[in-house]
Amino acid sequence: MTTQRDRELGMNRRITRRDFLNGVAIGLGAAIGDGFLPSLIWADSANETAPQDKPGYYPPALTGLRGSHIGSFEAAHNLRDGNFWKSAGKPVDTGETYDLVIVGGGISGLAAAYFWRAQKPDARILILDNHDDFGGHAKRNEFSPRSKMLLANGGTWAIESPTPYSKVARGLMDELGIHPAELAEKCYARDNYKGLSHGVFFDKETFGTDKLVTGAPSDFDNSTPDQIAKFASNLPLPEEVCRDILRLETSSQDFFPGLSSDEKKDRLSRMSYKKFLLEVVRVDARVVPLYQKRTHGLYGVGIDAVNALDCWVIALPGFGGLKLEPGPHPRMGYTARGYASPKEPYSFHFPDGNASIARMLVRKLIPASTPGSTPEDIVTAKVDYTQLDRKESPVRIRLGSIAVSVRQTNAIANTKEVAVIYSRNGELFTTRGKSVVMACWNMMIPYLCPEMPERQKEALRYGVKIPLVYTSVAIKNWKSFQNLGLSRISTPGMYHHEANLDLPVNIGDYRSPKTPDEPILVRMERMPCLPGLSERDQHRAGRGDLLSTSFETFERNIRDQLGRVLGPGGFDPARDIDAITVNRWPHGYAYEYNYLFDIEWPAGQSPCEIARKPFGRIAIANSDASAAAYTDTAINEAHRAVQELLNS
Ligand SMILES: Cc1cc2nc3c(=O)[nH]c(=O)nc-3n(C[C@H](O)[C@H](O)[C@H](O)COP(=O)(O)OP(=O)(O)OC[C@H]3O[C@@H](n4cnc5c(N)ncnc54)[C@H](O)[C@@H]3O)c2cc1C
Repeated sequence: MTTQRDRELGMNRRITRRDFLNGVAIGLGAAIGDGFLPSLIWADSANETAPQDKPGYYPPALTGLRGSHIGSFEAAHNLRDGNFWKSAGKPVDTGETYDLVIVGGGISGLAAAYFWRAQKPDARILILDNHDDFGGHAKRNEFSPRSKMLLANGGTWAIESPTPYSKVARGLMDELGIHPAELAEKCYARDNYKGLSHGVFFDKETFGTDKLVTGAPSDFDNSTPDQIAKFASNLPLPEEVCRDILRLETSSQDFFPGLSSDEKKDRLSRMSYKKFLLEVVRVDARVVPLYQKRTHGLYGVGIDAVNALDCWVIALPGFGGLKLEPGPHPRMGYTARGYASPKEPYSFHFPDGNASIARMLVRKLIPASTPGSTPEDIVTAKVDYTQLDRKESPVRIRLGSIAVSVRQTNAIANTKEVAVIYSRNGELFTTRGKSVVMACWNMMIPYLCPEMPERQKEALRYGVKIPLVYTSVAIKNWKSFQNLGLSRISTPGMYHHEANLDLPVNIGDYRSPKTPDEPILVRMERMPCLPGLSERDQHRAGRGDLLSTSFETFERNIRDQLGRVLGPGGFDPARDIDAITVNRWPHGYAYEYNYLFDIEWPAGQSPCEIARKPFGRIAIANSDASAAAYTDTAINEAHRAVQELLNS
């Protein structure tokens, strides 16, 4: 039943997502933007042409619940629960044998195919992926309001990594023609948001009243003490809490007198930032909600589960008087250790994030699929999905196909062939590879390769991928942002912890919206977790939350949040929202070790090092293999896995 509040929010309004129920196309087709999409799900007949082979198949334009969309994960969960094989039929033998079968069509899987073909140009390769689109986390959202293309990253945001790109990863970028620093210099259109700054919205459920305050803490690095004092005095919080926030933000106190910089770092690495605030800086506990989610975007958990030293690296306040020497520390996490070390600038955000890298790799592997040749023209190029799985092509990408068994014939680690069974549209198929690269997620591998040594399977299961949501909301114009003088808004107590206009980029034929009356995408982020638990348990709880949340709940929260935050600028959620895509990633970032909870393993003994050992003709790629959620690590691991197979 529609309530009055739902009507005000526009829950009854027609937007493109209504053609999709939780991300699944209803009926034969649905109007999206200017185009017409055939159904992405199968008709009843098992002999029906695969959806990706039908003209017009174009998943980037789908709205609703994307990321781990319905239809992509159920078989995996049945395998986990031990139910899959009970009801599985006999696999149909495809009769195919490939030089290499790759499980997982993300950056790691695509890079593995590229590296293999670079050394074996005649090789025949099959890539299987369970999603309806390739790219893994590096996917794109495409909207076309008023016939203008608007792009957002559905996952991977940018080429940027805490550690310098390796020779291998940088070499791949070079071969694709991607020179990040040059592209950033040439394509960023920062002037589009000239005069707009950063604000914090205090919501009544968390802070007692709804209030938007400009001049926010993350601008403090570049703020003067007067600006900080002005911000602190505007907060809708009791005076003593504001005083503590100001004291924290401007602190010049040495909380550990007599200790060396290294000793201080060690001490900070053994306490959470929340503990640092409460027990070292001794702020009022009501200060914490303003900072609780400041680590969400990078680490996927709040300040209760991130050590204070890693928060020093990302410039959270309170450390000014400690006079810590710049530089890394062995107890920092991978990300913080990297950011604490100097490196030259090497970053670029394509309008669709690193989906552009995935698309360029696909273009290299299957030239007939995608026109063009440069990083500029890939952005607006249309991929012809019907070309991805052609018999005559040496490289084939088979979507909607989840591997459920990867076994060396006779289950002997040194045999020359691996049988891969995959499920597609509820039917099982067998294909064969002389070698297999597992570029999927570590925790899935023990279910697929049960003959692996127990110690390796245990190590593969160790990391719990970080659940997260990137939401793209197409709105009619951004006058409300302009009226409020903001392009970035932190919402520390709300459902999504931020709502921002995307970094404007003009590249090739793509133009980011320049004037406030143009349609634009708002990017929102949510990291579901459960403060107080260990990091891995928080991720498990967050994943459960994500998988049990309906699109309707997301939509209601999004409308409510944008209405309250932007309303004073003239935004009306019922009138101004054109489309919503919720990219949910229950298995998102690779888990990186957190020494508040994990032990410091001796070299070579960490779970990811044990987990990535080759097993006969099966090698393991993907970013879990380095316990680091970055594009370059996914590429590095692909290269290692390929070399292991080619050298054995
Ligand atoms: C929301 C988000 C934002 C990110 N932002 C950045 C960023 O800005 N910069 C950066 O460097 N990194 C970023 N990362 C990390 C980066 O995206 C990853 O490290 C990298 O893309 C991982 O690539 P991959 O191929 O190893 O894994 P994935 O991209 O996860 O690809 C693996 C694929 O294998 C599929 N698969 C799993 N099991 C099976 C099976 N049994 N059968 C068939 N297919 C299977 C998966 O569904 C998936 O499609 C981000 C990650 C996320 C989730």
